[in-house]
Amino acid sequence: MKYNMVDLVGQYEKIKPEVDEAILKVMEEASFIGGPAVKSFQGNLEEYLGVKHVIPCANGTDALQVALMALGLKPGDEVITTSFTFIATAEVIALLQLTPVLVDVEPDTYNIDPRAIEKAVTPKTKAIIPVHLFGQCADMNAIKKIADKHGLFIVEDTAQAISADYTDPETGMSQKAGSLGDIGCTSFFPSKNLGAFGDGGAIFTNRDDLAAKMRIIVNHGMAVRYYHDYVGVNSRLDSIQAAILDIKLRHLDEYSAARLKAGRYYNNSFADNPKITTPVTAAYTSHVFHQYTMVLNGVDRQGLMKHLADNGIASAVYYPVPLHLQKAYLDPRYKEGDFPVTEKLSKSVISLPIHTELTEGIQKEITDAVLEFVNKA
Ligand SMILES: *Cc1c(COP(=O)(O)O)cnc(C)c1O
Repeated sequence: MKYNMVDLVGQYEKIKPEVDEAILKVMEEASFIGGPAVKSFQGNLEEYLGVKHVIPCANGTDALQVALMALGLKPGDEVITTSFTFIATAEVIALLQLTPVLVDVEPDTYNIDPRAIEKAVTPKTKAIIPVHLFGQCADMNAIKKIADKHGLFIVEDTAQAISADYTDPETGMSQKAGSLGDIGCTSFFPSKNLGAFGDGGAIFTNRDDLAAKMRIIVNHGMAVRYYHDYVGVNSRLDSIQAAILDIKLRHLDEYSAARLKAGRYYNNSFADNPKITTPVTAAYTSHVFHQYTMVLNGVDRQGLMKHLADNGIASAVYYPVPLHLQKAYLDPRYKEGDFPVTEKLSKSVISLPIHTELTEGIQKEITDAVLEFVNKA
């Protein structure tokens, strides 16, 4: 492929001296777990996000699991989330023997639909997990109102939207994605917007009680060495990853700006084409374009992907199967047709390469190739 979905090599080359020095320092100190690099990154991320506590952990899936463990939910408690997301969101609910309650998304933003949440609340509902999908925030003001009304926790899945800003339409106040609910969770998987050179994740909260509990849970439920207060897990961010992330955090705003510029280029290129519906950014959020995902109207998706591949251009489908139709999650409560927006999106979305190293020249080649196929189809 001439153009991949991400360009991690190109991104690394630009910061190579800084990153290499930081990695070598960790090796020389040989403090591979929980060393100064982890403390430094934790503090810098707290400041960047404007949250009181960041708890680093091993990956984004663990972050979600630990968040739910800290809320003290019991088997059978219901957790509402979107039917259109990466599986990790629902996986942790199922693993903890909680009941995932899926709801449909909005057709223009692809994010969880607050009206559908409201309808799904029952006396067993304990939490909502909004996913800020593809890089823009879900409708948090509406979601918070539902949570307040019914006394529910909010755990934000910010794996795809770190650095996105949410602006409350009532107060005009802006906050970072992940700092709006009770707990925020993110992933530092290499292809995420703030990506490590391996796995990594973090949990955010402004609540001292939850922070203290989560710090204990990620460390085998151990507050005092060899005394275990909770059933915990082993979930740590290693020092080399933290040192790399600390460097990349300094560049995160540049990275987000580059992604936004690339997203706008695609939006403009496809704006007037009836065969393509470009993604809509809601008024209350910025977009950090973790993915550039658009909807095809009556275009042979498989054919377009092949045409792009023949031209050396990668493309992908996020996500081809909605959660309620996944084999492992089949459930008599749900059947095909239950979530029409999600189901239509699964059949008609396509994602184009988007990352920090795109140039207008590359994007023109990509959009020309897309339009060539779409217009003759
Ligand atoms: C990547 C991702 C996760 C999981 O993160 P890992 O670090 O891969 O475990 C969870 N939720 C969403 C929406 C993601 O995109």
